[in-house]
Amino acid sequence: MIKSHPSEGLLQAFVAGELPPALALCVSAHVDMCRLCQRDVQRLEAQQAEYSLEQAPVADQAPLPDELDHMLSAILAMPEAPADSPKASKITKISKHIHWNQQKFLLPRALQQQVNHQPALQAGESWRQLGKLWRGRLAEHDEWRTSFYYIERGGEIPEHTHKGREITLVLSGSFVDGDEVYQEGDFIYRDGSHTHKPGADATEDCLCFTAVEAPLHFTTGATRLLNPLGKLLY
Ligand SMILES: [Zn+2]
Repeated sequence: MIKSHPSEGLLQAFVAGELPPALALCVSAHVDMCRLCQRDVQRLEAQQAEYSLEQAPVADQAPLPDELDHMLSAILAMPEAPADSPKASKITKISKHIHWNQQKFLLPRALQQQVNHQPALQAGESWRQLGKLWRGRLAEHDEWRTSFYYIERGGEIPEHTHKGREITLVLSGSFVDGDEVYQEGDFIYRDGSHTHKPGADATEDCLCFTAVEAPLHFTTGATRLLNPLGKLLY
């Protein structure tokens, strides 16, 4: 069961379209996986629609020009896709799942769409290995980097902190951060004040998706020597 969700404020900003694209992608992928947040997003969207109607100046409520009217009726006439949309079956296997040895992991729809634009990532060519850690970079948006991480059981990222925010969405397996164990669907939001040493559980591998706003900064002893690695993991 998902125990860690985006905050109400984050969902509000998501619905209002105010989040940086990398952060919006993480929220969107979590919402794909989470019934509770799907309900919250619907509620917030309805609230926002009501609010914008109230705020609309009188001139905006004038009759719609014919063209726009036709377009709107065409959109409204389109059949609504059911929750388990048959459209999904058209997506090719490689973009719908990440294949790892004999296993395959289903990606949330928001991520499937992004992966479709990244042939090198799909083909496994742009993945880099660092010990028990594999990173597949998805994209760079402004200061943000988005990546998939595959962490083999027992693998961890040395203790570090961030100048910016770091969002982790667990796609499969268990992700351990301090005393907390996160499971599939959990959305973990960290800001620059947080120092941690996250990794996979000792008994199973972990696949996650991350958005990081600034390079990682390693904090303790010899791992400080790894600070150039922080840029690589960013
Ligand atoms: Zn949720």
